[in-house]
Order: sequence, then structure tokens, then C-alpha cells
Amino acid sequence: MSRKKIKKIISKFSFIPLIKKSLLRGYFDLGFETYIVNSFFQKILRFNTNFLLHFTSRAIISKKIIIEEHSESITVYRSFATSGSCYYQAMNGIEIGKGTIWAYGCKILSANHSLEKGKLEEHDIHNIPIKIGQYVWLGAGVIVLSKVKIGNYAVIGAGSVVTKDIPDYAIAVGNPAKIVGYRCERCLLRNDSSHSCLN
Ligand SMILES: [Zn+2]
Repeated sequence: MSRKKIKKIISKFSFIPLIKKSLLRGYFDLGFETYIVNSFFQKILRFNTNFLLHFTSRAIISKKIIIEEHSESITVYRSFATSGSCYYQAMNGIEIGKGTIWAYGCKILSANHSLEKGKLEEHDIHNIPIKIGQYVWLGAGVIVLSKVKIGNYAVIGAGSVVTKDIPDYAIAVGNPAKIVGYRCERCLLRNDSSHSCLN
């Protein structure tokens, strides 16, 4: 049966509030299967990823999330499972190195929308992934935008919006995120003027 026919049949039941709302919101234009499968798997079973995802988080095109295979990548899997309210939009890919952690409410957005007239709903597919290095720490509510690379051992302060590449060992905060310091490459503590590395 065609999508149009299914929609026509469903629309006869638009006296049911949930169906009316779904029709008005265009959910059935996605395809009825998509609607049902999304609702069931994502809201009930959370099987939209091949790794455990916190039940309040959501991953889009999760097969394009590449996690470094290493025993120390457990922190990455644990962040996916325990950091809620996160949103991972991996249309252009998201790569995450071992030892990296992130807090609640992070958003990693690998694709923008098209600015071309009439194409706002289309995504900008360029296949340049977001790359988050090894042993990175993203504070609560950090947003990482398309094509950005975050270097190894970088720290991004809570609520920051990362719009440009961040080098290794950098500490960056704000919107847009700016580098406010670096970590010592030997002991990993903040390498400010008073730092004398004894390690
Ligand atoms: Zn040091």
C-alpha cells in the first residue's frame, strides 16, 4: 500500500487527538513505519544505537559515531550511558577518542541545515566528521558544531559553544568558545604563570 493511501486511511481517524496531532505535525509524511519504528525503538526500547544510550539522550545516524577501540574507551561508553539530555547528530560523523568524558546535556551537531531558498529542511552533507580527541573533557551543556576538531587532553567549560578547532591541551570556555589557558603536557594541571612542574 502506498504512503498516500495509508495516510488517507489514517486521516479517517483524525477524531482521535493523538492521530490529529500527528497529522497536523506531518509525522505521517515521514512514513508510517518510520513513525511507529521511531516511537517504539527510541521511546520504548532505545535500540537506536549499538551501544547503551541514556534514556533521555538521542542519537541520529548513530552508525556514524566512531568510538576509538581501546580498553580506555570505557569512559566514552560510560558517558553515552550516563550523561542524559545529550543529543548526538552524526549525519557527517562523530569520532571520539579513548579516555574522553562528557557531562549532562551536551549537544554534538555534525550537520547544519541548508541556507538555500526552499531547502531549509535539507542537511548540509559534507562527510567531514566532528573529531573529539583522546582524554577530552566536555563540561555540562557543551555544544560542538559541524566540522570542529577538539585536540587531545582539551577541556571545554560548561555551557560553551565550540565553533572552531581547539588544539591539544587547551582549556576553552564561552560562546563562541575561546582558549583561556593550557594544561601542562607533563602533569596535566593548568599551566599558568605559577605552575612549576615537579612531575
Ligand atoms: Zn606540570
